[in-house]
Amino acid sequence: CKRNPHEPEFLQAVGEVLESFEPVVEKRPDIVEKGVIDRMVEPERMIMFRVSWVDDNGKVQVNRGYRVQFNSAIGPYKGGCRFHPSVNLSIIKFLGFEQTFKNSLTTLPMGGGKGGSDFNPKGKSDNEIMRFCQSFMTELAKHIGPDTDVPAGDIGVGAREVGYMFGQYKRLRNEFTGVLTGKGLTFGGSLARTEATGYGLLYFTEEMLNCMKNDSIKGKTIVVSGSGNVAIYATEKATELGGKVVAMSDSDGYVFDANGIDLDVMKQIKEVERARISEYAKRVAGAEYHEGCAGIWGVKCDVALPCATQNELDGESANKLIANGVIAVAEGANMPCTPEAINAFHSNGVLYAPGKASNAGGVAVSGLEMSQNSMRYSWSFDEVDEKLKGIMKNIFHASYDAAKEFGLNDNIMAGANIAGFLKVAAAMIAQGVAY
Ligand code: NDP
Repeated sequence: CKRNPHEPEFLQAVGEVLESFEPVVEKRPDIVEKGVIDRMVEPERMIMFRVSWVDDNGKVQVNRGYRVQFNSAIGPYKGGCRFHPSVNLSIIKFLGFEQTFKNSLTTLPMGGGKGGSDFNPKGKSDNEIMRFCQSFMTELAKHIGPDTDVPAGDIGVGAREVGYMFGQYKRLRNEFTGVLTGKGLTFGGSLARTEATGYGLLYFTEEMLNCMKNDSIKGKTIVVSGSGNVAIYATEKATELGGKVVAMSDSDGYVFDANGIDLDVMKQIKEVERARISEYAKRVAGAEYHEGCAGIWGVKCDVALPCATQNELDGESANKLIANGVIAVAEGANMPCTPEAINAFHSNGVLYAPGKASNAGGVAVSGLEMSQNSMRYSWSFDEVDEKLKGIMKNIFHASYDAAKEFGLNDNIMAGANIAGFLKVAAAMIAQGVAY
């Protein structure tokens, strides 16, 4: 706390992980002796830089760019970049910290990192987005590389932004390499990367319901917060598995559609027109729009999938979900549930899947994109999707088994923290304390 006094999100993420380490510390004194935990909570490197660019009116704009290279014990740093006005060092550090565990859980050789900027893409023209991305990459390029650090997308960074950043990196380095993932399909992107986080979330949730409740998504009423990349493909897979998604949101409000969200209409509004979710209620008969995104947790459902942003589901919202009979909550976003919400789920028998396990599908397919780039080869959609399914099932079982092994009952969050940690810890011990 003393070292990071103004970083509440980072302290929250670290606190949640450390709480689950008690049984590990008892069983593995070598981890304490070698200072693994102290080393793990300090990023290997934090880079902050000025990003200046010229807007459409010819005015110079200045933003701050970040890249936190958190841990490279098991592979090159890997993690997305977020463009959102709320971005600060605390947020990028919490995301980088979580990413280290998540990437370890995928079983692929990837370390943890995260980056981004306080740039607000909303309302910017395509040319402004391009100029910003080019300026951002002009500095970032000095610190990344296919064997060093491989960024990707996150909030506000999709295929368009990755394309502009990739183009600039290539121009600066004169190298065509897999330095970013989430690229377009014509220049090294992987099939199924767009769908991976949302689909993966549903593969994980289906396995969790199956193993822990002998149940499935089929016939369930589902609420998905957000309407970005993760939310849209979570909704698509939930519907394919026989669930009915009745509500989605953006940062202004949420829509309720008792007939089940019409995803073609939603994709047109959010992916093509980049418009607000309130448009949905104007186009679909019977759908309602409500101001205020937190209201979505008052919608009655069996399964809740928070897929928007950190701390979007607090204790009060959790209690509403519980009163309405929710049986499972699985995080598509990173740290969307506050500690109070998680406690409420755990003490009321609600299955709870932490983002670092349940949303690992995106980075898993990014890892597969890196492999395809190295081989100069591409797998079919079905091949990637099958691998993704296998990885998500394995992550569930690794987390579930670790929880059992360390006497933590059905606490998937603690199990995921421990399973992700032990592999990184072993590599850190093997590489010596100066690492
Ligand atoms: P997008 O930018 O595609 O979508 C973000 C969505 O969340 C939008 O609907 C946005 O609404 C909403 N949102 C953003 N900030 C807030 C806020 N402060 N309050 C309420 N709603 C908000 O991002 P992604 O779908 O890619 O990411 C969503 C979450 O999933 C993030 O936590 C991200 O870190 C995590 N994640 C993403 C992965 C990926 O592969 N993309 C991988 C793993 C995790 P609005 O348009 O109004 O801003």
